[in-house]
Parts: sequence; structure tokens; C-alpha cells
Amino acid sequence: MRFQFDNSYARLPKPFYARVEPQPVNQPHGLQFNVDLARRLGLDPEQLATPEAVELWSGNRLPDGAEPLAMAYAGHQFGAFVPQLGDGRAILLGEIIAPDGTRFDIQLKGSGRTPFSRSGDGRACLGPVLREYLLGEAMHALGIPTTRGLAAVATGEPVYRESPLPGAVLTRVARSHVRVGTFEYFRARQDLASLQRLADYVIERHDPALAHSDHPYSDLLVRVAERQAELIAAWLSVGFIHGVMNTDNMSIAGETIDYGPCAFMDSYDPTTVFSSIDYRGRYAYGNQARIAHWNLSSLAMSLRPLMEQSSDQAAAQITAALDRYQQAFDQGWLQRFGRKLGLSQAREEDRALINDFLDMLYQQHADFTNSFRALGHAPEDQGAALTREVPAPECAPWLERWQARLAEEALPKTELMQRMHQVNPAVIPRNHRVEQALDAAVDDGDLEPFKQLLAILQAPWEEHEANAAWRAPPRPHEQVQYTFCGT
Ligand code: AMP
Ligand code: MG
Repeated sequence: MRFQFDNSYARLPKPFYARVEPQPVNQPHGLQFNVDLARRLGLDPEQLATPEAVELWSGNRLPDGAEPLAMAYAGHQFGAFVPQLGDGRAILLGEIIAPDGTRFDIQLKGSGRTPFSRSGDGRACLGPVLREYLLGEAMHALGIPTTRGLAAVATGEPVYRESPLPGAVLTRVARSHVRVGTFEYFRARQDLASLQRLADYVIERHDPALAHSDHPYSDLLVRVAERQAELIAAWLSVGFIHGVMNTDNMSIAGETIDYGPCAFMDSYDPTTVFSSIDYRGRYAYGNQARIAHWNLSSLAMSLRPLMEQSSDQAAAQITAALDRYQQAFDQGWLQRFGRKLGLSQAREEDRALINDFLDMLYQQHADFTNSFRALGHAPEDQGAALTREVPAPECAPWLERWQARLAEEALPKTELMQRMHQVNPAVIPRNHRVEQALDAAVDDGDLEPFKQLLAILQAPWEEHEANAAWRAPPRPHEQVQYTFCGT
């Protein structure tokens, strides 16, 4: 396996990271390799699973040209500032440029201790590694920006949590691993030279058009805000709950990152929380747009020293950027949910139609994914499929309003249904299915359910007999109440 590394982050000055090598493991064993992603990156998929490559994915050997390092960052965790977090169990091997010119980070996660490990062991467990791989692929198949797993390998070593668990390493690919917390890190240390260096680095890497702007740093804030607005609208449109939207888990590149205690919602309820550590529901489904705004405010405060000297001007720029976030989110949400109802261009007055549909789902404890999918059949079945989720007397008046609005679209039935089926997934990674697959892998060493689920999730828009079992919501005894961090 050959990489053409070009390690721009490693060229940044010392305070940005600690140079550190992965710690070798006993008996690396390949579990899952991402042929599709290898192609995207211009790597040879044939080489992914060779014994030599498994040595690389496990951290036992370094690829030529790698400059391994642990990135420094801070973060607000559940609202409380932690001035130093950093990669405690991840190591950036370097960056490669894909055939289309896109730069990607190649990172090992679970590859041993680093200077940022604090009391942690630097390791990851098999379950969370497979979970991150699975959820990342599901997200990608849904067309939502995300980091992705290139390889998952077992280490052959136990990791000690409450009990010994099998260890694993994930090779994670990202547009970059710079987070809101990376900016907070330098701001908290009052290291303004590094702060500016970081901002310039991000502009060059992610927003080169801003290099010649009169206000590059407030423009950067706007760009990050727009990406985040789009991302959160996309999450909400598929019922995704990230679970730990701490500022260290929010990517500047606008990708979904750090699949910890995340989950897709079954029955619709905006207060849904799965994370076992989120006692107050800070990161509940319906709070995510507000939390992103909160995180962006923290980014704004971090960038503040780089902005205009006059505090009035800086304050005005920050307010404008945060307003832009709100506006981009509101529009993104309206357009995405509008399309879920079959509207090519939703208008402000369509919000009521969307919200009333959601209210109906909430009142009836209806399944979010299956209700929208069922609605996509309504042009043909007059709402019969939907009545399995929402009783006919409850949904009839709403269906009438909806049909009246759709009449303006003047679209043939088949096209309308096709349009809706392209944005309303039939299959999502249902939590109980994910748990079953991971339990089989961890408890019985059986990867088959994981591989089967992965294959099903790669075609989320298809609805047929073969994926019927994966489309069904959990029965009461299958319901997963909590999900846990990988730590
Ligand atoms: P996370 O909850 O995975 O986003 O991680 C939060 C912080 O804890 C990051 O700085 C991680 O690098 C660190 N961390 C998480 N798990 C471990 C571990 N097993 N060993 C060392 N550091 C860890
Ligand atoms: Mg994290």
C-alpha cells in the first residue's frame, strides 16, 4: 500500500501537536476494509487487506512518508471548558490528495497513548470502532458529509473498561480534523500568533477563496456557520442525534465526526436523547440546531482577537455571522423537510404543513423514517401505508391540505413518488439493529450481522422484501434506551 503523503499539518509549528508514534499491537487482524473509499482516495483497493496493509492499519508499521502526530485541541464538554484535550487515542499519519485534488487526513483511532491521553489508555474497543465505521458509511450513503472508516482491525489485545473487551483500531479519513476546539485551544492560551496561523491554515485548506477577502476571519466564521447549518439540517431530516456535540467534536470542515453515543430516532419525539451521559438532554434531537449556534458563538469568541480592531465592528461581524447561521439553518431545514413532503421549493407558509405533520407523528408516537417513507406512497395508495403509522381519522385532514398544496407542483404521480423516495430513506441504522450486530461481533466474534447490516445501509433508498426486517422499528423488548461513548 503506497501513499503519496503531503503533510501540511505536520509543517505547522510546534504548539499545534505532539509528534508520537502508534504503539504496536499483538495480533492484528483485519475486520473490514472500505473498497469504495479506497477508490475515492486513489488507493489500490486490492492492497487494503494484505498482511502488510494490516500492519499499517494496526499501527505496527508506519507507511513511507507518514509523519505521525497527535493534534492539540481544547473543547467545551457539556458546556464546561476544558483547556486541553487533544488526540488522546488518535494519531494523524498524514494527508493524501485524492485524484480529484481533495486533501484528506488519514488517522488511526485507538492506536495507543499520546501526550494528550491523560489517564486514558489510548485504546478503542471493537464495538465502538465497528459502530463508527457502520454509522459513517450509513451517513455517507444518505449523502450527508461525514468522516469515514477506511479500515477496521482487531488488535488481538484486551482493552480494560468495566470488563476486558476486545481492542480495535479504526483508520479514519476526514476532510480535516480541525475542530472548533482547535481554535479554542490557542485562544485560551492567548497564543494569538498560533491562532492566526491556524485560521490562515484553515482558509488555505478549506476556503481558499477567502484568502483575499477584506475580512478573512469573520468570513471564515460565516463559511463554518453555513457548513454547520447545512449539516444540522441534514441530520434532522434523517432523524440523527449526534449525542455529544461538544466543541471538540464539531468539525470546521462541516463533516459529521466522532460517532460516540449517537443514534437515529425511531418514533418521533424532539426530546429524544440516547447518550447515557446526557442527563439533561443538552444534545437531544430537537436541541441540535441551538447547540451548533452555541458552539459557533464559542468559535466566534475564539476568532474575535483576529477581527477588526474596533469592538463595534467585530461585534457587528460576529452578529452577522451568527445570524447567517440561523438563516442558513432555517432555509436548509425548510427546503429539506419540504422535499420530504414532495415540494420542490418550500415557502415560508409551508412550515405549518411540515410542523403539523411532525406534530401528528409526535402525538401518535409514529416512526419518523417509516412515516415519511409511507407518505411517499400516498400519491398511489391514498395514504394507506401512512395509516399504519397514524390512524386514518387523524391524518385525513392533514392529507387533504397536503394534496391541495401538492396540486401546485403539478407533477405526475410517479415522478412525485420518485422524488420523495429519493429523500425519504427506507432504511436507517436502527439502533437495535446496530446493537445486535455489534453484540454478535463482540460477544461471539461473529462479523456476519455487521457485514449484512453494512450492505443493507449502503442502499438506504431501496424498499424491498430483502430489507424489510431492517426497516422495522424495534419491538418493545428490542428498544435501546442508552448508547455509550467509546471511552
Ligand atoms: P471523545 O469523547 O471520544 O470525543 O474524547 C474526548 C477526549 O478524551 C479526547 O481528548 C480524546 O482523545 C480523549 N480520550 C477518549 N478516550 C480515550 C482513551 N481511551 N485514552 C486516552 N484518551 C481518550
Ligand atoms: Mg472527540
